[in-house]
Amino acid sequence: MDSSESNEHSATQTRHRLQKSLRTSLVSAGIAAFLLIFLIGGGGGTTEALITGLFFAIVGGAFTFRILRTGKINTPRLILFVGMMLTFTAAYSIQHEITRGSILLTDEIIAGGNVAICPITIPFVIPALVIRGEMIFPASVQTLIWISLFWLGFALLFGRGWCSWLCFFGGVDQACATAAKRPRLEMKGLSRTWRLFPYAFLLFLILVAVSTLRPLYCEWLCPLRIAYDPPAVNTTLEWLMAVIFIGGGMVFLIGGPLLTKKRLYCSLICPLLPVNTIIGNLSPFRVKVDPNRCNDCGKCEKVCETFSMTAESRKQGKTMTECTRCGRCMDICPQGAIDYRLIGTSVGVRPIFVILAVVFNLLIMSGFVMALVHFLLTGEIRSVTGGG
Ligand code: SF4
Ligand code: SF4
Ligand code: SF4
Repeated sequence: MDSSESNEHSATQTRHRLQKSLRTSLVSAGIAAFLLIFLIGGGGGTTEALITGLFFAIVGGAFTFRILRTGKINTPRLILFVGMMLTFTAAYSIQHEITRGSILLTDEIIAGGNVAICPITIPFVIPALVIRGEMIFPASVQTLIWISLFWLGFALLFGRGWCSWLCFFGGVDQACATAAKRPRLEMKGLSRTWRLFPYAFLLFLILVAVSTLRPLYCEWLCPLRIAYDPPAVNTTLEWLMAVIFIGGGMVFLIGGPLLTKKRLYCSLICPLLPVNTIIGNLSPFRVKVDPNRCNDCGKCEKVCETFSMTAESRKQGKTMTECTRCGRCMDICPQGAIDYRLIGTSVGVRPIFVILAVVFNLLIMSGFVMALVHFLLTGEIRSVTGGG
């Protein structure tokens, strides 16, 4: 083959590749749009549901198309993930302002036993319920079962992908880590002790929950309580609680991520982290590295916000099991060596993963958006939590 034939051959190959990529992006966008209109629009059978379904189908189709066509995942994912957190926070806060008269959580509300339960409490509330037969969170067992099944379905499908695509709380440290242009405090990686810390911390919380029948984490430690159900502050004890929540929030959710460009809360503290990681072993999706393509530049390790890529894992062609499937390392890799693969194989599953992640993100977010739209139109708010 002479050089002009070879050039023509390579131009034809590039054209075919582009056509194939366009076809895949269009078909995937169509599937995402169809699923969204079916899941959101089909539900109520009302005009409102149909319009909402159509809106989210267009948005979902556009996001899916953009991700697959450009090959860049992180920016659209950020919009979806942080958007979910913002819409949830707005709807949740308005719900409490209207139904309880304040976003603050008072002793009277706790005594009423109808506090909204969040998925993060599942790993220590369920053991206490199973072992001691006591519901240690002020909510009904029915709500706990409902939220547990909801979370478990997604955790089985996405594993820690929940933590970069679906969790309504993860957008907090994510937004702060993203807002930082560059790290002012360089954190290169986690030592073995810090890697094990979340697992030891969860074990401690479970032991405390089972032995004392109290949700120590919710009562005293959860940094997310700077925004969600902050305590009403009247007594010295409540002041102390507030100081702990604010301190934890500043270190792990806001200040720390702004300084380090790492998602500190979601890498070190959250009780759902270890459980999502363990259950994630059953997920069909993996992020794999092709060691034959990798030139060891280390960029993937540097940009990973959850310390989930290391030189050792890369050499073994994989990420750490805590990987949240965010796609940031894929976007930065100059060799195109990292991608979503089917568990135990080298089969690429990027379109399937992206369709499902976008569809489920928007499916959950649509509930918050619809509650907000309903509030703007009627002044009334629908419950977005199933609890009070
Ligand atoms: S680590 Fe916890 S708060 Fe962070 S995204 Fe995962 S479940 Fe949500
Ligand atoms: S960014 Fe790509 S090429 Fe660089 S070390 Fe990571 S996998 Fe290898
Ligand atoms: S290893 Fe890659 S996909 Fe996994 S969390 Fe880190 S940057 Fe995201």
